[in-house]
Amino acid sequence: MNKKYKRQTKAQAEEIVKILIDEYGGQEVGLHFDTPFQLAVALILAAQCTDERVNKTTPILFKKYPTPEKMMRADLEDIKKIVKPCGFYNNKALSIKETARMIVEDYNGRMPEDIDELQNLRGIGRKSANIIMLEGFGKCEGIAVDTHVGRISRKIGFSNKPAPTEIEKDLLKLLDRKYWVDLNHVLVLHGRQKCIANRPQCNECPISSLCKKND
Ligand code: SF4
Repeated sequence: MNKKYKRQTKAQAEEIVKILIDEYGGQEVGLHFDTPFQLAVALILAAQCTDERVNKTTPILFKKYPTPEKMMRADLEDIKKIVKPCGFYNNKALSIKETARMIVEDYNGRMPEDIDELQNLRGIGRKSANIIMLEGFGKCEGIAVDTHVGRISRKIGFSNKPAPTEIEKDLLKLLDRKYWVDLNHVLVLHGRQKCIANRPQCNECPISSLCKKND
């Protein structure tokens, strides 16, 4: 049975985002870092791992290897040992070392300040590239769409597309640029605290009266 997808108008979408910003506060990345490179490393480690765990691991890693040059020359086995608590450590260590090498050899030691170039780095997808542009360089180029953002966007009536890149396009069209910065942050928190997958707490939800509650 195909139920018709119920969409928000621009005005309603804006109202929803304002309520969510009010509820959860503005943008604040949970990962600790000093440079865009360190943020990229933290984001690689954060895949299927909590920010808390990453934040316990990165001080040890960054003390030994704070820059792309030092990370590129690090012993891979040592990186693996340090990042092991974050899970998938073989792959994550390889991504970190390779990303460091690319920054040094392909970008003269400087993180590329470009959303497309950032996605050339190993372990950095569009979501992480968006976060690096925003948090590392202070530039809002788009909206990072992860599982929470995708799922809730569909539920509340922001987008009925399945692919994150398509959802992002809908969100960019629907919402004024000034809301882009906060959207990922508030939807992630909303997904963790109220609109939990398979058991949404609609009775306690601050946007319940506006939500389209799509399947
Ligand atoms: S009303 Fe329910 S489904 Fe809609 S956003 Fe809130 S918790 Fe999620």
